[in-house]
Amino acid sequence: MKPAKFRYARPSSIEEAYELLERYGEEAQVLAGGQSLLAGLSMRLATPEVLVDIGSLNSLSGIALQDEEVVIGTLTRHTTVLNSPVIHQYLPLFAEAISHVGHVGIRNRGTFGGSLAYADPAAELPACVVAHGASVVLGGRHGRRRVKADAFFTGLMQTALRPSELILEVCIPVRRAAQTHVFAELARRHGDFALVGVAGLITLDGDSISEARLSYFGCVDQAAVARDTSAALVGRALPLASTEELVKALGGDIRPTDSPGMRAATKLELAAVMTRRALNALQPSASP
Ligand SMILES: Cc1cc2nc3c(=O)[nH]c(=O)nc-3n(C[C@H](O)[C@H](O)[C@H](O)COP(=O)(O)OP(=O)(O)OC[C@H]3O[C@@H](n4cnc5c(N)ncnc54)[C@H](O)[C@@H]3O)c2cc1C
Repeated sequence: MKPAKFRYARPSSIEEAYELLERYGEEAQVLAGGQSLLAGLSMRLATPEVLVDIGSLNSLSGIALQDEEVVIGTLTRHTTVLNSPVIHQYLPLFAEAISHVGHVGIRNRGTFGGSLAYADPAAELPACVVAHGASVVLGGRHGRRRVKADAFFTGLMQTALRPSELILEVCIPVRRAAQTHVFAELARRHGDFALVGVAGLITLDGDSISEARLSYFGCVDQAAVARDTSAALVGRALPLASTEELVKALGGDIRPTDSPGMRAATKLELAAVMTRRALNALQPSASP
């Protein structure tokens, strides 16, 4: 199929972009890397009157360490994040997660902010920003506002973004020295969207977990902190011997649905198995 007719605008300043978004409201759609939107246009899932291409707003791209946060501009490509020494040093969870986002061609075009705005519940980055306690900075003609990542995702492919707003940047607290990260995903092929995945930050006190903040993707309908599971892990010693407790706690956090080839109950079990494996891998001597 071909896209429905649309007008194309390529603003040369953020103010011009705000003006266009304000003028056309819900009839406008922002174009960033185009890796999700162009497919949606071709299938006529999206039929905007105007496409506002923000690709030439270079000030929205870049990675900077500011105080205790890494600030990632919305237009920063996945590949740039993947190759950034700042990300590897301060946010290694993101370096690991992005290597699972699509394939090289998609990572070369797709943007960090685009992934968050699209809010696909099977995508890696929404889960990672929630696990890291990040904030998303939104801007419009009214000014800027900062929204915590766990309040930014409001439902299945729904966010707190207003039609006249842009994501400008994402501020992610650096991983503390005592913290380590966990990441695991199951996909049919490397680069496919995840069927089940977990991302999170863990603090260990010897063999025991003293803090945990996990978030799931692929088996959820929106990125959120898995509060019951994270709480159930505190005080537990590694390696975890079984998944029994995890399955119980996960039942309070995620409600997977049946999909072709995989039942909801299987996804719940897999989420528990992958969490246990990821946690046990933090102990080099432990068997998975
Ligand atoms: C074959 C294939 C496989 C993929 N596999 C994965 C995968 O495994 N994991 C994964 O996470 N992703 C995957 N993706 C998606 C990819 O990561 C996209 O890059 C990402 O979802 C969207 O980013 P984008 O910059 O391309 O956004 P676009 O496609 O340009 O836009 C997506 C949506 O976000 C909105 N938007 C974009 N930027 C902004 C902004 N700054 N402010 C407000 N709204 C904005 C747009 O209006 C649109 O609604 C895949 C894509 C393809 C085609």
